[in-house]
Amino acid sequence: MSIDLTDEQKAFTEAVDDFCRREAGTREQRGDSPHHPGLYRRMADLGWLGVTVPEEYGGSGAGMVDTCLFLEHAAYGQAPVGGFTTSAIVAAAVQRCGSHEQKKTVLGGLVDGRVYAIAMSEPEAGSDVANLSCRAVRTGDGWIVDGQKTWCSNAHIADTVLLVARTGGSPGDHHGLTMLLVPADAPGLRINGIATMGGREVNDLYLTGVRLPADAVVGAVGEGWRQLMAGLNTERLILAAVMLGTAQRAFDDALDFIRQRRQFGRPVGSFQALRHRVADLATEIECCRLLVHRVATLVDRDPLRVLPRESSMVKLKTTEVARQVALAGMQMMGGYGYATEYDMERHVRATLISTVYGGTSEIQREIIGKTYGL
Ligand SMILES: Cc1cc2nc3c(=O)[nH]c(=O)nc-3n(C[C@H](O)[C@H](O)[C@H](O)COP(=O)(O)OP(=O)(O)OC[C@H]3O[C@@H](n4cnc5c(N)ncnc54)[C@H](O)[C@@H]3O)c2cc1C
Repeated sequence: MSIDLTDEQKAFTEAVDDFCRREAGTREQRGDSPHHPGLYRRMADLGWLGVTVPEEYGGSGAGMVDTCLFLEHAAYGQAPVGGFTTSAIVAAAVQRCGSHEQKKTVLGGLVDGRVYAIAMSEPEAGSDVANLSCRAVRTGDGWIVDGQKTWCSNAHIADTVLLVARTGGSPGDHHGLTMLLVPADAPGLRINGIATMGGREVNDLYLTGVRLPADAVVGAVGEGWRQLMAGLNTERLILAAVMLGTAQRAFDDALDFIRQRRQFGRPVGSFQALRHRVADLATEIECCRLLVHRVATLVDRDPLRVLPRESSMVKLKTTEVARQVALAGMQMMGGYGYATEYDMERHVRATLISTVYGGTSEIQREIIGKTYGL
């Protein structure tokens, strides 16, 4: 690895690697689901889920560099703790904008092993998030929410969903959006799994007359868009770090295979066609690692500075490289890469969609291009 880590960071990543080898090293241990409540609980007990959480709320108060190291190594170790990604994104939003009470509940909840989900997307509001129409209307003592959300990762295992709803303006307006905390068991909220090639980790949410107290609002009423923008660094780095770990895993799995597999009397990895491909993929992964580390370092240096160019670059590059590595890994493994007996087909499925969620590659390119005044 090309990044200089402190002794503490080395010890931390070694502990995560060791845990993953021991506790999630086999298919039987990992199970079929991307989220294993027992292993998540064990990680909570080890204090790792609170890596992003300030000490006053029970976490270790580490920065984005450490958080990215945790995510990268947990993904590399194939730890089935998929619920952590959205939980960390929600916790970061609450940490930035929430009240002390909300921080105690949500940040403390993450440390204790609870899962959180975030619901922005709607059937008519995907890349165009501001087009959302799910509406929260003020009542005497709180809010009533009606509408539909879609593609909400982990809502079916979540304690609470961070909902972005319209409290003013019309679909298309950036103003008039508000963040609200909705308990997953709130009367009037129905959560339906969506069948996908990756399983059933995403959900449609139907909200019919869901009543929320006044203090469900996170941050300021009508300021949801600004609050979402302020969270871009964190959200994109989190997704990037997971894909960096997944890319490295797919690479190492492919390398192991092509060293062993013999055709024409020699290991297939010794053919120049594969050797050069390995060289290209290794170089791309190293570029991603440096970029993740660089952007995380910038965020730690000044957590309030929004980095639209850098955070889009890190999400764009790592997700596209992860997909490239997994597809190349499958090709290099021949038919075996396609068999469910090996993990490569899972890496392919996991990486294929990473260029879509959290803002598609096209949208990331739009954002980067605009930062050059175009
Ligand atoms: C597995 C998965 C998990 C998800 N998890 C969550 C979640 O937890 N919470 C949540 O709120 N959402 C989540 N999403 C939703 C995700 O963020 C959206 O799917 C994504 O933003 C794209 O929206 P869309 O699917 O409606 O595609 P569309 O916006 O309809 O885009 C279709 C195509 O058009 C392109 N396109 C659109 N606009 C432009 C443009 N201006 N310029 C160039 N190209 C453009 C897109 O890049 C894409 O290729 C998830 C999605 C998936 C698949």
